[in-house]
Amino acid sequence: QAKLAGKHRYHLFDAEQDRSLRSHHESLEHLRAALHAGEFVLFFQPKVNMRTGEVLGAEALLRWQHPQQGLLPPAHFLPIIEEHPLAVELGNWVIDAALQQIREWQQQGLSLPVSVNIGARQLRQRDFARQLQELLGHYPDIAPRLLELEVLETSALGDLAQISQLLEDCRGLGVGLSLDDFGTGYSSLTYLKRLPATIVKVDQSFIRDILEDPEDLAILDGILGLASAFGRQVIAEGVETREHGDMLLRIGCDLAQGYGIARPMPAAELPAWVARWRPEPHWAGLRRLNRE
Ligand code: C2E
Ligand code: MG
Ligand code: MG
Ligand code: MG
Repeated sequence: QAKLAGKHRYHLFDAEQDRSLRSHHESLEHLRAALHAGEFVLFFQPKVNMRTGEVLGAEALLRWQHPQQGLLPPAHFLPIIEEHPLAVELGNWVIDAALQQIREWQQQGLSLPVSVNIGARQLRQRDFARQLQELLGHYPDIAPRLLELEVLETSALGDLAQISQLLEDCRGLGVGLSLDDFGTGYSSLTYLKRLPATIVKVDQSFIRDILEDPEDLAILDGILGLASAFGRQVIAEGVETREHGDMLLRIGCDLAQGYGIARPMPAAELPAWVARWRPEPHWAGLRRLNRE
């Protein structure tokens, strides 16, 4: 009886698994078709210096302009292709689209660094740096430093020596490098030490509660101290309110990105935003608290 039930369950499971595999396959095909139909677009979210009012650059964030479902964020489709070769194709599309955008803004007289997110699957390609070089080669009029790579520390989980060499090779091409979602992985400090990043982006989960949670504030303060000892700049992600900005400036974190500054926007809106943006008037005068 038990055996029969077990067998039955096995069959059920099998059928479910089969269905989910088939739908996975279908989703992949939809994504491939969407890529070839030009349904992906980049949105851009500014990064600023809250104290000086300088706009440092913008992060390119991928969206799927779905013909029926509207604008879809990466959480809706990236997990489906994360481990698939299609992630590489899409990743290269993102880099190329970012370079095109840099060129377009440059032609309008706006020289703005753009960062792109690089997925783990992309970084596992041994010839990633060579592919990047080839993509950059299509845009000889663009200074490579205008392109920055954002790498999740969790993507380095593989062979650290290999990935740090690969990222060194990318840096050798002149592009910038930041450690994204810093603090959420298991070996943040090792990555800080070993990866040739110039910027550390502190994950929004540490920023969200800094106004109420002294421990998150202490973590952030610690990251700021460490990063400066390593000669890295720190950007706070997920700065949602003016009060977040106040607190960050008090503890010496001037660089920020978040809804409180600007939401991700279509490329066409960014130049006007850059021309118009001013920091909160009292930000420039906020005193830094003394570190004890
Ligand atoms: P991320 O690189 O850490 O990007 C920041 C995410 O936080 C973005 O979500 C952004 O819209 C959102 N965000 C910005 N400011 C705030 C804020 O103040 N509050 C809150 N709650 N959220 C904020 P998005 O665009 O949905 O992207 C999510 C993640 O998907 C990104 O996290 C990145 O890891 C990944 N991603 C986005 N575009 C690409 C891409 O082209 N390639 C790859 N491989 N990954 C991408
Ligand atoms: Mg990012
Ligand atoms: Mg991030
Ligand atoms: Mg993130």
